[in-house]
Amino acid sequence: EAETAMHRAKDAGDSRVYFFAHALQEAASERLALRSDLRRALEAKPAPLLLHYQPQVDSHGRLAGVEALVRWQDPRRGLVSPVHFIPEAEASGLIVPLGNWVLEEAATTLHRWQNDPACAPWATKLTMAVNVSARQFREADFIGRIESLIARVGIDAFSLELELTESVLVDDLEATLEKMAQLRRHGVRFALDDFGTGYSSLAYLKRLPIDVLKIDRSFTMDIDAPEHSGQGKRPAVLIDAIVAMAHQLDLRVLAEGVETLAQQERLLRSGCDLFQGYRFSRPLPEAEFRAWAAQQSARLPR
Ligand code: C2E
Ligand code: MG
Ligand code: MG
Ligand code: MG
Repeated sequence: EAETAMHRAKDAGDSRVYFFAHALQEAASERLALRSDLRRALEAKPAPLLLHYQPQVDSHGRLAGVEALVRWQDPRRGLVSPVHFIPEAEASGLIVPLGNWVLEEAATTLHRWQNDPACAPWATKLTMAVNVSARQFREADFIGRIESLIARVGIDAFSLELELTESVLVDDLEATLEKMAQLRRHGVRFALDDFGTGYSSLAYLKRLPIDVLKIDRSFTMDIDAPEHSGQGKRPAVLIDAIVAMAHQLDLRVLAEGVETLAQQERLLRSGCDLFQGYRFSRPLPEAEFRAWAAQQSARLPR
């Protein structure tokens, strides 16, 4: 399509349309290249993928959990952010093998930490949070896969937390509910990611077996904005209300993207239970995460 537009523009001598169509075509072919490189990456043994780990802390600053975040080490592109390849993976269906790789790697790492005496001061009660995309969750064998992963790797189901976004919920609520309930019976925990950005209905929250509500970073960013800043919103008041509601429903609330002390303090006043963000640490490669966790647990013993 972009190509015909480009030829037509070229024939007509319209350089602006030509330029635009050309840019479109380049973007499309870059997406295709990314897709086929990603496919090849997933077939390679070992896959050139890695996980970074970002701490989640409680109101005392103690390590409570960790979120696994995938990166792709590509020879040409360097370390590629998931922001760039997850949407492509979703569109192409590659998200399923990619998501399986992430689950496998996260579980294996957690098992290693839990069985290494050097990690004992911080790893025993740690939750490993893994992002699961809607498409991956809807796979027919998703439950069986999680069950066998837990058994095979030998981790405690309670230490695995699956992060779902609101998009999983909107499509087929009944099926999602049933699947979540089944996994919940094994002990698997759930977090609702990016809360506030999607089509949340409070009615869902009451019915779903969710443990943690993750308030999206966009709320945290605005939390220290003055209440009458002309933005037409009062973010702190909004978070107060979200936390109160979540606590009524027995959910814990995690604030994403906490960067400053002022944000942390305001979120604490709102009653947030857990915190994640650059203020505590960026997502780190495994060895660096272990060092961070060891230092943090020495400073703030349980
Ligand atoms: P997310 O699950 O909401 O993860 C949080 C993102 O916010 C991470 O970006 C993290 O690095 C970033 N972040 C954390 N704290 C701060 C902060 O204080 N300030 C700012 N500016 N950013 C912060 P990342 O690692 O680039 O991941 C982006 C998104 O990609 C994730 O958002 C998630 O939706 C997706 N993703 C990452 N790994 C996976 C995966 O294994 N599977 C799936 N399906 N999606 C993944
Ligand atoms: Mg997440
Ligand atoms: Mg999130
Ligand atoms: Mg987010």
